[in-house]
Amino acid sequence: MNGIAERLAATRLRLRLAERQAGRAQGSAGLIAVGKTWGPDALAQAYAQGQRDFGENYLQEALAKQDELKDLDIVWHFIGPIQSNKTKPLAERFQWVHSVDRLKIAQRLSEQRPADLPPLNVCLQVNVSGEASKSGVAPAELGALARSVAALPRLKLRGLMAIPAPAEDFAAQRMAFRGLREALEGLGLDGLDTLSMGMSDDLEAAVWEGATWVRVGTAIFGQRARSA
Ligand SMILES: *Cc1c(COP(=O)(O)O)cnc(C)c1O
Repeated sequence: MNGIAERLAATRLRLRLAERQAGRAQGSAGLIAVGKTWGPDALAQAYAQGQRDFGENYLQEALAKQDELKDLDIVWHFIGPIQSNKTKPLAERFQWVHSVDRLKIAQRLSEQRPADLPPLNVCLQVNVSGEASKSGVAPAELGALARSVAALPRLKLRGLMAIPAPAEDFAAQRMAFRGLREALEGLGLDGLDTLSMGMSDDLEAAVWEGATWVRVGTAIFGQRARSA
């Protein structure tokens, strides 16, 4: 198990097995390959194995890869922190933004989404781990933010995303993901069908709790050389 093709196949197997154990339909949990720090060649290798959804954290790095891979039929997901003066390329060049955590960002994305493209799919990132994480809306403020974002014309609010603090064991992993699922259910808004949760180390727990996207980097591409 050392090539991207082998690791991707192993990751898909984990996902299918988790779906089956959780009593979920095959393919109901989608796989986003997180390519941060990896060059376009690595992404192209995963693409050659049928991978179509790719996630990126850093805008400049993502735009360079999009330019290199512009002939491929890739669905681009932005999953990193968003600076409010850098929303335009996000609105123009991504199909999904998972990391919206304040209204100002959402308003800018809606204003800047080109008229000839469908509404931008967005998730609200929720800070489920309290002080352990700086990103994400506080659970207490989620409802108000969700109602405001759902009303923006050029966005399609799809659901919630979270990056829980690393947990000791399966039960603790599940508890954090269950919190996000319950937050989604508690919103009581129509059309929310997305839970973006689970990474290399905890995707099984996330699938168990209803993840519809898992975002996996290390298990597909290998250990990152620089921390990210
Ligand atoms: C890096 C990253 C991932 C993937 O993490 P791995 O542990 O490498 O699978 C998923 N989501 C976000 C937001 C990330 O920054």
